Amino acid sequence: MNSINPSFTSNYTSYTINQSSSQRTEQTSTSSVSSDSFTPSSKSLDDDFAKADQLKQASATSKVGEKSTSDPITLTIISTNDMHGQYQLMPKVAGVIDALRERYPDAIVVDGGDSTYNPPFSEVNEFGPITDVLNEMKYDVITLGNHEFQYGKESTSKDFALKLDADVVSANVHDKSLKDNLDGVKPYVVKDVNGLKVAFVGLVKPKMHTKAHPNVGKDLVKESTIEAMQRLMPEIKKEADVVIALTHQGLGDDERMASHIKDISLVLAAHDHVSTSKPIVVGNYPSKTYIVENGSHCKMVGLSQLTIAPETHKVLDFKFKQYPVETYGVKPNQNVAKIINDYEPVDPHHR
Ligand SMILES: [Zn+2]
Repeated sequence: MNSINPSFTSNYTSYTINQSSSQRTEQTSTSSVSSDSFTPSSKSLDDDFAKADQLKQASATSKVGEKSTSDPITLTIISTNDMHGQYQLMPKVAGVIDALRERYPDAIVVDGGDSTYNPPFSEVNEFGPITDVLNEMKYDVITLGNHEFQYGKESTSKDFALKLDADVVSANVHDKSLKDNLDGVKPYVVKDVNGLKVAFVGLVKPKMHTKAHPNVGKDLVKESTIEAMQRLMPEIKKEADVVIALTHQGLGDDERMASHIKDISLVLAAHDHVSTSKPIVVGNYPSKTYIVENGSHCKMVGLSQLTIAPETHKVLDFKFKQYPVETYGVKPNQNVAKIINDYEPVDPHHR
């Protein structure tokens, strides 16, 4: 089959925007654009990225021994969040990520959670084909959204985290005590990027239950995201030069957290489905925190680029750009399309 299985997509694609997401988008409209009014980023930003590319090429062509230790280090991160089971778009999301990874081969690719949940499909098929899709997309780090806890913590581990090739991070939810991580989940991971030690910490909004799903999250031991960061930051800072938070709590809580916790350079946000065309900035140099989020439902992929001072590890510059998935014009990833085409949804009436 060349197109995505129509019986699989057509039944489920209409459940895309939930009420809370559109409300939240309106509330925070000063610092964001709604996904409907999205226009591709300005040319000047493209020029900035082109300049960064030239600099990078120039330093790559110099001999290793020539490279000064005082050259700034570039850290590139490709991010998605709240994809919410939009399988008809995931081959295109993968195509955009493939294109960006080709341009920035040392980029770290991350997801901010809620990749799976798309009712009513996921009510009966639970995690569906998502883990195979995320593995094929070759994510490096994934954090858990509230919806990844929808079917109980055993399922979070067995059906999601343990099946992923990516490092799965979540620092403020635990199995039986604060010392006890869920199977397949760690609080944070430290990646080596161009000689820089970069910590990616996962955090999720502790209140996960809703009227419709009153028990979600009640089987977990939870802390607030601020408590978890206060507890972990001394340890993380011993291991890492730069700290990046993958949060799934909404921008209001992100701003609160960033004003309480110093030395988080970048927050890759999720959960409230807001698109930040420009980063939100909390604090002042040298301890600024940038916060960005890429809407929801596979509409865009974000590219963040931090320029880091080699000795102090302070952020000298930050650039952010979003790539609209439907109009960016890259080839959809055929392997991802095949996984989705081949997946057979469980018939809800025979379960
Ligand atoms: Zn969420």
